[in-house]
Amino acid sequence: MLGAGFTGLTAALRLLQTGQEVTVFEKESEVGGLAAGFKDLSWQWTLEKAYHHWFTNDASVLNLAKELNHPVAIKRPRTDVYVNGKAVPFDSPSTIISFPYFSLTDKLRTGLGALFLKLLPNQKLLEGQKALPWIRKVMGAKSTKLIWDPLFDGKFGKFKEEIALTWFWARIKKRTPSLSYPEGGFQTFLEKLADEISKLGGDIKLRTKVSAISHQSSARYAARRVVRLQLKTKDKKQITQNFDKAIVTLPSPIFAKIASGLPKDYIKRISSIPHLHTLNLILILKKPFLNGTYWLNITDQSFPFLVLAEHTNFMDPQHYGGQHILYIGNYLPPDHPYLKMTAEELLKVFDPYLSQINKNYKLSILNCKLFIAPFAQPVVTTDYPKLIPQFQTPLKDVYLANLDMVYPWDRGTNYAIEMGEKIAKLIVSR
Ligand SMILES: Cc1cc2nc3c(=O)[nH]c(=O)nc-3n(C[C@H](O)[C@H](O)[C@H](O)COP(=O)(O)OP(=O)(O)OC[C@H]3O[C@@H](n4cnc5c(N)ncnc54)[C@H](O)[C@@H]3O)c2cc1C
Repeated sequence: MLGAGFTGLTAALRLLQTGQEVTVFEKESEVGGLAAGFKDLSWQWTLEKAYHHWFTNDASVLNLAKELNHPVAIKRPRTDVYVNGKAVPFDSPSTIISFPYFSLTDKLRTGLGALFLKLLPNQKLLEGQKALPWIRKVMGAKSTKLIWDPLFDGKFGKFKEEIALTWFWARIKKRTPSLSYPEGGFQTFLEKLADEISKLGGDIKLRTKVSAISHQSSARYAARRVVRLQLKTKDKKQITQNFDKAIVTLPSPIFAKIASGLPKDYIKRISSIPHLHTLNLILILKKPFLNGTYWLNITDQSFPFLVLAEHTNFMDPQHYGGQHILYIGNYLPPDHPYLKMTAEELLKVFDPYLSQINKNYKLSILNCKLFIAPFAQPVVTTDYPKLIPQFQTPLKDVYLANLDMVYPWDRGTNYAIEMGEKIAKLIVSR
């Protein structure tokens, strides 16, 4: 297994439960991938490097939590949009009705558009349509200008007009006003999953980077152990090991780079989905930043970030030594200058905008941490369904399962778990 994110760990668990032998290789020093977290010495709970929560209808992840006997908190935190210098609730039919900047017509059009998407059982009717033109036509010019255009712009930048309506459908369809969260934090939950894997005899090798994958097709290897992995171990040794099958849960462009023998047209196809980096600057504060709001979508396009998520307006600050935690989140193209800045440099850029929301926040800063992850968000355009890779790759016995493949859903740990279970089933059935 290549990669110890939710997909790799779940696939490992399910394979071990059917009696297979599994080794997991992970380049980082902890399991978890995009959902991984960290813990300050004075905290009882771990905290994700990028904001995370579950929806209450995320059945696969909630079932896994039940199986691992892991407690899950359910809360109804506040989700607002930042419009005209104010945080205004915007996450349910009643908040659309009371939205102060919409006329009655805007409210009806926005509400009915969202209701239509919510009630539509699947995305098939919407395939091939672009989201923003649909939103303009159905929800109207005011709703688009005030809310949706700025949010698409903040998330997808130059791709905003190309984003598929099916992506927007998935976001509306799945969203629940109440949210869930694994007690102890995502990293605590992931460690429990990793412990279960170890108990079943699975071997998780951390700080071990897979630098090459090849298929040994000569007769000498014909029977078993035909997939050769070149590994860079934690003590910086280069070794090779052979396996009878490999499941790759790394981003497609990395797979394309390290696998030898892939046909050119396959490489071109799996590398043609654009991905955005995610940047999260975390402020650890003495006092709350927002006035009770957990999630604040920024719709003022002059702001240099897309979202503020005050985690401790969702989970109790007492789990973090009474400190308050604010994520400043952005999705950025790989060449964006922010990706080269330090936490201090970014805070300088963000400061005038943060001060507009809370003018005294600076006195309250205890610490500041920066996390950047590449390949964090595939850009889902109307061509996307044609580009999605299959589990089976052109290399025999080498399988690919990553977040590009959860369409029509947007990437999420729930779908990583679902995909880990599907790929394990496929392997066992062969
Ligand atoms: C900003 C942000 C917010 C999110 N919010 C939520 C949320 O609220 N709720 C939710 O459910 N989901 C959320 N997600 C999505 C969720 O984190 C991902 O969908 C999920 O973690 C993907 O798991 P994965 O195992 O498929 O991939 P990954 O987590 O990317 O795992 C791949 C693993 O492979 C490892 N790897 C890479 N290259 C190599 C190599 N050469 N050798 C060995 N190992 C390697 C990586 O280190 C990583 O651990 C969010 C993601 C982001 C970026």
